[in-house]
Amino acid sequence: MRILVVEDEPKTGAYLKKGLEESGYSVDVASDGADGLLLAQEQNYDVIVLDVMLPTMDGWAVLKALRATHATPVLFLTARDDVSDRVRGLELGGDDYLVKPFAFVELLARVRTLARRGPPRESELLKVGDLEVDVNRRRVRRGNTRIDLTPREFSLLQLLARRQGEVLSRTQIASYVWDMNFDSDTNVVEVAIRRLRAKIDDDFPVKLIQTVRGVGYVIEVKEAD
Ligand code: CA
Repeated sequence: MRILVVEDEPKTGAYLKKGLEESGYSVDVASDGADGLLLAQEQNYDVIVLDVMLPTMDGWAVLKALRATHATPVLFLTARDDVSDRVRGLELGGDDYLVKPFAFVELLARVRTLARRGPPRESELLKVGDLEVDVNRRRVRRGNTRIDLTPREFSLLQLLARRQGEVLSRTQIASYVWDMNFDSDTNVVEVAIRRLRAKIDDDFPVKLIQTVRGVGYVIEVKEAD
């Protein structure tokens, strides 16, 4: 069972990580909203523990963006004990709500319940033009043509497709697809993009992966000039 904790207070984050790990969960901690959202989109978590007041993106914004594609159960953590906040969180698709300060056993009980319940099973299909990426079954097609990708190519395509229309830098792509940081002058990303293009673009008249010179790459259906 994997848990993502999105919490900007280092002490609380470390405390939750330790406690949940001691209870048998595998735990990642993100310390701001944007990082938390990206992890939540890229990894498969069983439950997300989401603080409301966060740098870069608050918990509401994270949940709203996440719910566009993911049904991962979310437990909100907040210092605010306000009925309107609670209603707002649940309306946006939060699954449960815990007010700080809370007892760890209480949090653990809520996490266990959410983990047991799990997300509603639905297929997740990302579409860019006639390209379809079936995330759960890890299948890719363009129109009627089935395309076989390596796991790395699939991760790269999934990242681009999830953030379609958004230009991603080579450094961003490297850190999410290879889970490491390296200098942006490396050509690892370029090589991977070239291989991916050979599979999803070269044989098709409409090219989906666009190079934005000096910036990075974006996947989108480009309007005809
Ligand atoms: Ca906070």
